[in-house]
Amino acid sequence: MAESTASTPAAAVDHLQTYRNALARGTLSMQACLQCRAFRFPPSGICAECGSDRYEWRALSGRGTIWSFCVFHKDYFPKVLREKPYAVVLVQLEEGPRVYSNIVGAKIEALRVGLPVLAVFDERPDGEVLLKFRLSAPPA
Ligand SMILES: [Zn+2]
Repeated sequence: MAESTASTPAAAVDHLQTYRNALARGTLSMQACLQCRAFRFPPSGICAECGSDRYEWRALSGRGTIWSFCVFHKDYFPKVLREKPYAVVLVQLEEGPRVYSNIVGAKIEALRVGLPVLAVFDERPDGEVLLKFRLSAPPA
């Protein structure tokens, strides 16, 4: 994706919806600042690093590693998560940004810092697609 909105007023652009639309197409994308090259997440009209309003959307690989995780025994978001306990992971993407998410298809006991993960696009019953991750085999 090479969409640049540098000439569009920031207030007129729904950055989060653009991010969600990409997830619905099975693509993890983030804004990259055209001034300092930093990724912006969550999506924003202004770069937190340099203040620039210029950016482009970049498709990311979806590959990363578990940087940290925490196990919750209380359900704070019953609309999203149904089983307890559940883990919230902080994934270090290979392109640099870190994102909070969940792991699907693995028991909590299997989670370890440093394990490789791959993005999955989890469609909820209401049609919204959430970014989640699954454990992936380490590179050979
Ligand atoms: Zn910047």
